[in-house]
Amino acid sequence: MIEVRNLVKKYGNHLAVDHLNFTVQQGQIYGFLGPNGAGKSTTMNIMTGYLGATEGEVLINGHDILKEPEMAKRSIGYLPEIPPLYMDMTVMEYLWFSAELKKIKKDEIESAVEEIVSLVQLEEVQNRLIKNLSKGYKQRVGLAQAVLGFPEIIILDEPTVGLDPKQIIEIRELIRELAKKHTVILSSHILAEVSEVCDHIMIISHGKLVASDTPENLEKLMSGTETVIIEAEVEASRAEEIIQAFANANCPLLSIKRKKASLEEVFLELTGGEAEDDSDL
Ligand code: ADP
Ligand code: MG
Repeated sequence: MIEVRNLVKKYGNHLAVDHLNFTVQQGQIYGFLGPNGAGKSTTMNIMTGYLGATEGEVLINGHDILKEPEMAKRSIGYLPEIPPLYMDMTVMEYLWFSAELKKIKKDEIESAVEEIVSLVQLEEVQNRLIKNLSKGYKQRVGLAQAVLGFPEIIILDEPTVGLDPKQIIEIRELIRELAKKHTVILSSHILAEVSEVCDHIMIISHGKLVASDTPENLEKLMSGTETVIIEAEVEASRAEEIIQAFANANCPLLSIKRKKASLEEVFLELTGGEAEDDSDL
C-alpha cells in the first residue's frame, strides 16, 4: 500500500530523516513512536506530499508521491500536526470547502459531509465558527477533514495532543472505528497511546527506524533481560555489602521477584530515553 524507500530529509546540515525504509499493509493501524524531534512529522509530511524529500521515494499504491501527486494523494487523508483550519468559517462551510478541494463530486458533497459530521460527532457544533470551538472540537474538525471522502489511508500526526482524557478516549475510539475500513498511520511521542491502539509500532529515533514490530513482539525483544528483585532482612550497616556477601550473610530472604522488561523500557532503551530536539539549530 505504502512503500517508503531510503527516505532522507536534510534541513541544512541537519539530518532529520535518516534513510528510512518501511512498508505499510492494508487494514492495520500503524504507530510512529518517537520522542519530540525524532522526525515523525517530517516523515509524514513527505509521505503526504507536503514536503519534498532530499533522497528516496514514497509510493502510494504504486504511485510516486512527487511524480504523480494527484493519483497518490487521492488515497490519502492527512491530519497534520497543526490542522489547516479556517477559523472564520463555520464547521459546515469548512467541510464543504474541504470537499471541493478534495474534488468530491458536487452531487456527492452533501451526503459525504453529513456522513462525516455524524461519524466524528460534530452535529452540535456544525453551525459554529471554528475559532469559537474548544481544542477537542477543533481537533475533531481536523480529523473530519482528513477522513472526508473516505480515503483508503488516513495519516494522523499526534491526533490526541493537547486533549483532555475524555477527548483522548473518544478520538481513540474513533480511530479504532476508522481502522475497520481504512489503513491508519498515527504518530505519538507517548508509548501508551500507540501500544493502546496500534497493531504495529515503528519506533523512530534521530530520524532512523530503530524497531518495527507488533507491541507484543517488542515486549519480547527485551525478555532476555529480566531484573530480579531480592528483598532481604538486613542490618543497615550491612546493606551495602549484602549483594556481594549474600550467600555468607545468613540473612533470611523475604521475597524474590522477577520483573519483566516493559514496553516502556524497550522504548527508552531504543531511543536513549530523552527528547531529541536539537538545540544547536
Ligand atoms: P517529530 O515530529 O518527531 O517531533 P520533526 O519531524 O518535527 O520531529 O523534526 C525532526 C527534526 O527536524 C527536529 O530536530 C526538528 O528540529 C528539525 N526540523 C523540523 N522541521 C524543520 C524545519 N522546517 N527547518 C529546520 N529544522 C526542522
Ligand atoms: Mg511532530
